[in-house]
Amino acid sequence: MPDYSALKEKFGPHCLFGEPAASFTTYRAGGAAEALLRPGTPEELRWACAWCRAGGTPWRVLGRGSNVLVSDRGLPGVTILTGRLAAVDLKGGALEAQAGAAWDEVARLSAEAGLAGLEKTSGIPGSVGGAVRMNAGAFGQETFDRLASVRAFDGAGREITLLKKDIVHGYRRAEGLDGLIVLSARFEFQPGDPAMLLQDRSCVLASREAKQPLDYPSAGSVFKRPQNDYASRLIDAAGLKGLRVGGAEVSPKHAGFIVNAGGATAADIYALICRVRAAVKEKTGVDLQLEQILLGDF
Ligand SMILES: Cc1cc2nc3c(=O)[nH]c(=O)nc-3n(C[C@H](O)[C@H](O)[C@H](O)COP(=O)(O)OP(=O)(O)OC[C@H]3O[C@@H](n4cnc5c(N)ncnc54)[C@H](O)[C@@H]3O)c2cc1C
Repeated sequence: MPDYSALKEKFGPHCLFGEPAASFTTYRAGGAAEALLRPGTPEELRWACAWCRAGGTPWRVLGRGSNVLVSDRGLPGVTILTGRLAAVDLKGGALEAQAGAAWDEVARLSAEAGLAGLEKTSGIPGSVGGAVRMNAGAFGQETFDRLASVRAFDGAGREITLLKKDIVHGYRRAEGLDGLIVLSARFEFQPGDPAMLLQDRSCVLASREAKQPLDYPSAGSVFKRPQNDYASRLIDAAGLKGLRVGGAEVSPKHAGFIVNAGGATAADIYALICRVRAAVKEKTGVDLQLEQILLGDF
């Protein structure tokens, strides 16, 4: 294990060791992060990355951990959480948010201000950085619809600004951001009627509540939507609702979700993912692609 004393000295209570993934991922499962950092400024984030690079320590950045599965063997090196970088600035027809701000706050504030285009993404439980990195979306809207530009650190720790047109992206992907740390994102909107936008928001939140197993830990849809179909429909048609491995279960409420029904290990969840994928392939010929990101050894 590297000597982390410099990190502890710099970050104090915002540097933890051996913190289980249950505390920083929405699956509430998986092993421990060797070192877990919560920088309070972009400069601290830059410093932490530079420290890792200089010592050859592996590292990664996470927002709310709502699209990842962490291996039971844990995460070596440094895991950086952006949650303390959460400023949101709404001016005129634009909104700028730091990477650690809650995505749902962007959806809510823009709707309240009569700024249209992201209201249907309400309820996505990630951060702004995670939403941009994943091009998260729902109900026909996605993050990149209203994205204007992104500020980021590049691999050498330099701050750069990328315009949307320069970021290669697509459905639930933004490979134009590979190797970058998103610091903040700027969104521009069409004018809309706040009452209508807030009504759309309420409908979307109610639909999530009605259809998704929000009372169990999960990381949302396990698989990407295959062309002209839904992963959940295929999984349901294959008779897999309720299938269990250990504490992991294909949600009986929404077949696209695997939930931690109690005491699931990451190995349980991963084994269930593999079983679902194999069964759907066998029964329908469709090879489902993982939307969630596996971190660590599986
Ligand atoms: C109940 C539930 C419902 C969901 N519904 C939806 C939905 O409707 N639509 C949808 O698209 N997703 C949905 N998700 C999945 C998830 O919320 C989104 O993918 C979200 O955008 C992930 O954000 P995060 O901050 O949690 O990212 P994390 O899970 O923390 O990270 C995801 C990826 O983004 C990278 N990343 C995070 N922050 C940064 C940064 N600042 N710079 C660079 N890279 C970064 C990480 O390294 C990782 O590769 C749902 C999840 C749950 C639990």
